[in-house]
Amino acid sequence: MSLVAEVPSIVSATKPSNGIRVLMNYVNGRWIDSRSTNLQPVMNPSVGQTIAKVPLSVPQDVDDAVASARKTFPVWSNTPVKERVQVFFRYKALMEKHMQELAALVHEENGKTIGESIAEVEKAIEVTEFACSMPQLLSGEVLEVSKGVECRIDRYPVGVVASITPFNFPNMVPNWTIPNALVLGNTMILKPSELVPLSSIRIAELLKEAGLPDGVFNIVHGGQEAVEAICDHPGIDAVTFVGSTKVAKLVYQRSTANLKRALCLGGAKNHLIVLPDAHEDMTASNVAASMSGCAGQRCMAASAMVAVGNVDHIIKKLCDESRKIIPGKNLGAVISKKAKERIEGYITEAEKQGAKVLVDGRNCVVEGKEEGFYVGPTVIDFVKPEMRIAREEVFGPVLAIMRADTVDDALKIENANPYGNAASVFTQSGGAARHVIEHASAGMIGVNIGVPVPREPFSFGGWNDSKFGAGDITGKSSIEFLTKPKKTTIKWNPESKVNWMS
Ligand code: NAD
Repeated sequence: MSLVAEVPSIVSATKPSNGIRVLMNYVNGRWIDSRSTNLQPVMNPSVGQTIAKVPLSVPQDVDDAVASARKTFPVWSNTPVKERVQVFFRYKALMEKHMQELAALVHEENGKTIGESIAEVEKAIEVTEFACSMPQLLSGEVLEVSKGVECRIDRYPVGVVASITPFNFPNMVPNWTIPNALVLGNTMILKPSELVPLSSIRIAELLKEAGLPDGVFNIVHGGQEAVEAICDHPGIDAVTFVGSTKVAKLVYQRSTANLKRALCLGGAKNHLIVLPDAHEDMTASNVAASMSGCAGQRCMAASAMVAVGNVDHIIKKLCDESRKIIPGKNLGAVISKKAKERIEGYITEAEKQGAKVLVDGRNCVVEGKEEGFYVGPTVIDFVKPEMRIAREEVFGPVLAIMRADTVDDALKIENANPYGNAASVFTQSGGAARHVIEHASAGMIGVNIGVPVPREPFSFGGWNDSKFGAGDITGKSSIEFLTKPKKTTIKWNPESKVNWMS
C-alpha cells in the first residue's frame, strides 16, 4: 500500500479520482483544488508505478497563493523574530518525531534508498537548526558616527518569496529556503517539482502543527506554466530556484527582467582530481560513494575523475568498490524511464567513441522490481574531455575517468567545464591540495572528500553555470538575499554641532 493512501494528512491533502489520489494546492492554510484539469502522474521510481496525480497549475492558482501570502505578510513580518523562531524550534522537533514517515515519503516518490532518505531529512533538520539561530545572527549593527549621532542597520524581510525546487531532494531543498525565509519575516509560495510533490504536503502539515499562521506558507503544484507565472507575478518579490542550468537561466532572466531578486542554482559536473599519492582505500571508497550516492542524482556527485599520472591501482580498487554497490539494495532507482534511457545513452555513446567501460550498469533489472528504473554503478576509463559524457551533466551513477600528466593539466580540464558547483582533490600532499583549492573553478572544494557539501553555518552555492545571482542559498549568505537593510541615522543630542555629516 502506498503512503499516499496510508498517511491521514496526505489523504486529506488529496482527493480520490478513478482510484488514484489527486493532489491539491495549499492556500491560506487549506487544501484547495487547482483550476487546472491537466494532471500528471507521480511515479514510484523503485517499482515504476503511478502513486498519485499532480495538477499542472495555471496562473490563476498562482494568483490565489500570492494573495494569501501578501495578506499575511504585514502581520507575520511585524511579529518579533524571537516569536517567529519558536515555530521552527517546534517544526524541528516535529521533523525528528516524524523522521521515518518523512524519509519513507522521499523514498517512495524519489526512489533513493531509505538510508539516503533519512540522511536527507537529517540535513533538512540541520538547516532548520541554522534558522533557529537567526535571532543571534540578526542582532544589530550600531555605531556612534559623530558625537551624539548614531547609525544603525535593521534588516527587513523582502516580502513574498517563491521557491521552485527540483526532484532530487524533495524534502531537503525546499527546506533550504523555507525556515530561513520565514524566520526572517517573509511569507512564501513553494512550487515543488511535479515529479516529487508529496513531501511538500507533510512539510505544510508540520509547519501548521508547529503553529505557523495560515497563509504564511503556500504551495502551488505544477510545472513550466506555474513557474512562468511566478516569474511574472508583480506580487512576488524574490525567487529562489534550484534545478537544471537550462531552467535556472530562464528563471533568473525572467524574474530579474520583472525586477525581482533572484537566486538560481543550476546543474553541475563535479571533477575529482586523483593524485598517485592519494590514500588508496579511502580514495576508492569515497569516489565510488560520491558517484553512486542517490543514484548519482546529486548536484554534488562525482561525475568526472581526472587521474593524474599512474593511479591504476586506485582505479582497480574503485572498480572493486563499485561492484559492491547493488541496485535495489544499496543503490536506489533513477527518477524515470526517460532518465534511465538518457543515462544509458551517454554510456553507449562514450563506448562507441573509444572509451572503455570498466563497470557496466546498463540494462539493469532488479528482481521483484522489474518495472523500476535502475542503472547500475558505471565506471568508464579513457574518456576524452571533448566527449559529451565529459562535458555534460549525466545525473546518474556514472563516473567518467579522464587521464592527465600533471595537476595543472587536470585543472585545465576542470576549468574548461562550464559548470562550477564542486571539485575535489585526493592527495596526501598539502602543497598539491592547496594548489587545487586555489585554482579549481568551483564554489565548493573538497580535500579527500567526495561530496564536499558545506555543513551549516557555511553556505551552499556554486560558481559559473551552476549558479546565477549573488550570494548563496543557505547559511549566513541567505540573510542578505532574504532581507533588505534599512540604514537609520539618529541625532540623540539636539545641542550637538551641525556639520556636513550630521
Ligand atoms: P529541472 O530544471 O528540470 O526542474 C526544476 C524545477 O523547474 C521544477 O520545479 C520544474 O517544475 C521546473 N521546470 C522544469 N522545466 C521548466 C521550464 N521549461 N520552465 C520553467 N520551469 C521549469 O531540474 P530537475 O530535473 O528537477 O532537477 C535536477 C537538476 O537540478 C540537476 O541539473 C541538478 O544538478 C540540479 N540541482 C542543483 C542543485 C544545486 O544546488 N546547484 C541542487 C539540486 C539539484
